[in-house]
Amino acid sequence: MRVHLRMLGCRLNQSEIDTMARQFQQLGHEIVDDPARAEWFVVNTCAVTQEATRKSRQLIRELNRANPAARTTVTGCYAQISPDEIAVLPGVEGVVDNIAKEQLVEQVTGEAPPPFDTEPIERRAIPGALGRTRAFVKVQDGCNNVCTFCITTVARGDGRSRAINDVLDEIGYLHGIGYQEVVLTGVHLGSYGHDFGDKNALQMLVRRILDETDVPRLRLSSLEPWDLSDDFFMLWDNPRLCRHLHLPLQSGCDATLKRMIRRTSQAEFRQLVRAARDAIPHLSITTDVIVGFPGETDDEFTISETFIREMNFAGLHVFRYSKRPGTAAARMSGHVDDATKKERSTRLLTLSQEMERGFAQRFVGQTLPVLWEQVTGATEAGFINVGYTDNYVRVRGVHPRPLTNAITSAQIETFDEATGQLVALPMIDAVS
Ligand code: SF4
Repeated sequence: MRVHLRMLGCRLNQSEIDTMARQFQQLGHEIVDDPARAEWFVVNTCAVTQEATRKSRQLIRELNRANPAARTTVTGCYAQISPDEIAVLPGVEGVVDNIAKEQLVEQVTGEAPPPFDTEPIERRAIPGALGRTRAFVKVQDGCNNVCTFCITTVARGDGRSRAINDVLDEIGYLHGIGYQEVVLTGVHLGSYGHDFGDKNALQMLVRRILDETDVPRLRLSSLEPWDLSDDFFMLWDNPRLCRHLHLPLQSGCDATLKRMIRRTSQAEFRQLVRAARDAIPHLSITTDVIVGFPGETDDEFTISETFIREMNFAGLHVFRYSKRPGTAAARMSGHVDDATKKERSTRLLTLSQEMERGFAQRFVGQTLPVLWEQVTGATEAGFINVGYTDNYVRVRGVHPRPLTNAITSAQIETFDEATGQLVALPMIDAVS
């Protein structure tokens, strides 16, 4: 059977679709890039905002128009919260919720996929993987927190973790098929292992991955600030652990944080950031911020903006509050108008650019390890390679050879204002 897979949304959805692609192939099915050649579509949807659900419906319709003969199975957060809305869309053969998602390939093919340590498949054969040098590995799902704006905790259910040995097998497998970097991902990654009754399980998982696999780079995706103890930062004694923390703040104002039921405050967040920066040199800290949360006054927003500037992040993901039916915030009063959300979002995006450039410029004159991800062109001097440092700064470097999927040292020469990229000289004493 020829299968075409698509996803919207977060790294977790990406990791799940990559896993499904491998499973289909291990059962002898072909993954095709072209929807017109497919016999079956699989769509992993997102419901984090109203816009995400609209785009999910649009994608399902587009695929059906591209190939009306193909059947579609839809899963993901939108399928979890609104299965009836999806079941009536053209071409939809099945709607699979987030709990049953792990059996989706078996449901579609009638066969259970084999475990990871079977014959490695050619990475080249996974559409979308080509050109991707980092693999997202899902280690946890669900969340037991009750942030009032969040539909994910509704769509993904209670927190649950994968067994450590299963994760180690997958990472060994992924490195075996050529991945240089692995990103641990989950809905609430910081709660990894809490369902095993072990509050420090994430620390243990990271240490075992670094001790028992050879993957050159390990990156952690989003971590809730309240999950991290001070000794967590000792993990960065190992240089294979990327010096990048994404710590969602959501608001820099304590009054807003209270209405969001976020288990942090300005004081706690400030202390955590200080401890992390003291422990990890050149650490990149990025964050998520919501603007226009119900009840957010001009004063509250100004307090939030001022705190964000004080924290001096390496970058912000800015979201305009989106009312999600089924969440506590949707029932709150004081909803903010779209024009105000837009104005606040613009102010934070401008601040983010300023902070991002400030962070990158610090590294001019230094030497940093870069995982080169793609070639974007060529000059007389060679190929234009682009990649990321371990602390997540984008770098461009010309070299006689294409360096895709290689990790090398790079001598940082300048900062290119136009692109926001560091310009470097790749040094082929090759880190790996
Ligand atoms: S921690 Fe909060 S924002 Fe994150 S998934 Fe859980 S409920 Fe949602």
